[in-house]
Amino acid sequence: MNVEKSARPVLAGKCLCGAVEYAVADEFVYAANCHCSACRRATGSAFKPFAGIERSKLAITQGADKLMLFGDDHGCDTRCKLCGSLLYSVVREGMFVHVTMGSLVDDPAIRPTKHIFVGSKAGWFTITDDLPQYREHAGTAEPSGE
Ligand SMILES: [Zn+2]
Ligand SMILES: [Zn+2]
Repeated sequence: MNVEKSARPVLAGKCLCGAVEYAVADEFVYAANCHCSACRRATGSAFKPFAGIERSKLAITQGADKLMLFGDDHGCDTRCKLCGSLLYSVVREGMFVHVTMGSLVDDPAIRPTKHIFVGSKAGWFTITDDLPQYREHAGTAEPSGE
C-alpha cells in the first residue's frame, strides 16, 4: 500500500488531539449519513456522516501505536486512544473502511447522498434536506419518502 503514489489527490485526516493522522485517497465509493443508534452513540451526535473506500486506500501516517479498536471484525471502530476521536470503522469483512467525514482535514470530492437507518433516527433530530431516506440500508428497502 502506498497511497502517496496514487494519481488521484490524497486527503489528510486526523484526530482531535493530533496524535493520529491518516492519508486516504480521494476515491470514496459512497457516502451517507447513518442514523442508527450505534453510530449515534459512537459519535455522540445525531448521525454519522461517513464515506466508504477500500481499506488499502487508507494509511495511518502518524500515531499507529495510538490507535484504539472497539468492536469485532464486522464493525471495528478505530479511534485515537488519547482523545477518543472516531476516525474510521473497518467493515465488510475487513475489505472496506467507513471514514468519519468529520475527521477529514481536506474536503473530499464525494458528498453524502442519502440518509440510512432513518427507522432508528433520534426523535429530537429533524432531517431538513432533500436527500433520499432509507429505513435501513440503502438498497434493501425503498426510500421512506417524507
Ligand atoms: Zn487524538
Ligand atoms: Zn450506523
